[in-house]
Amino acid sequence: MKIYDISLTMSPGMPVWPGDPPVALTRVASMDEGAHANLTHLACSAHTGTHVDAPHHFLNDRRTVEGLPLEVLTGPACLVRIPDQVTLITAAVLEAAAIPAGTERLLLKTANSALWGQGAEFFTAFVGVSEDGAAWLVRSGIRLIGVDYLSVAPYKQGVPTHRALLAGGVVIVEGLDLRAVEPGEYALYCLPLKLAGSDGAPARAILVG
Ligand SMILES: [Zn+2]
Repeated sequence: MKIYDISLTMSPGMPVWPGDPPVALTRVASMDEGAHANLTHLACSAHTGTHVDAPHHFLNDRRTVEGLPLEVLTGPACLVRIPDQVTLITAAVLEAAAIPAGTERLLLKTANSALWGQGAEFFTAFVGVSEDGAAWLVRSGIRLIGVDYLSVAPYKQGVPTHRALLAGGVVIVEGLDLRAVEPGEYALYCLPLKLAGSDGAPARAILVG
């Protein structure tokens, strides 16, 4: 049994969505300067690094992140490798991906994984799931989809994919670091921060297997 940490490390030098505030970790009390304890102030978007989207993010329906079902966020998960030449994850791509029947939690490792560890630059040409790919996931009984860049949808085409997934009851986990994990079956533990009324939250995610 091995534990794989598939969370990004939150730091000021990590890529964030264009226009989002950068991550700030500010030491507001420092023992080096005579304080009795070290204390850090954290400021960031709720969609920073490895994070979960709540339905309220794109549906404006008040279903916010603290209400997401823990029984979906934890449990058996299948990690599938999408070939590097795929630039858009369509229904046809998913059909060809040999996803085992009965899979409820699906993690997609794509060419995006190579984008991590390259500093703060945000890459707009990342691989995302198309609208028909999202419909395929809903139709196939997927309850959680995890991706290895900061959005499940292609850049500038966020609305249709997110709406299809969230309206279909699929939990979206974005910003996974899947570089060190091979395709296969694992146990997923993904625990977003319990932020009141938020459309998303950073999460610590691990795979055990
Ligand atoms: Zn998000």
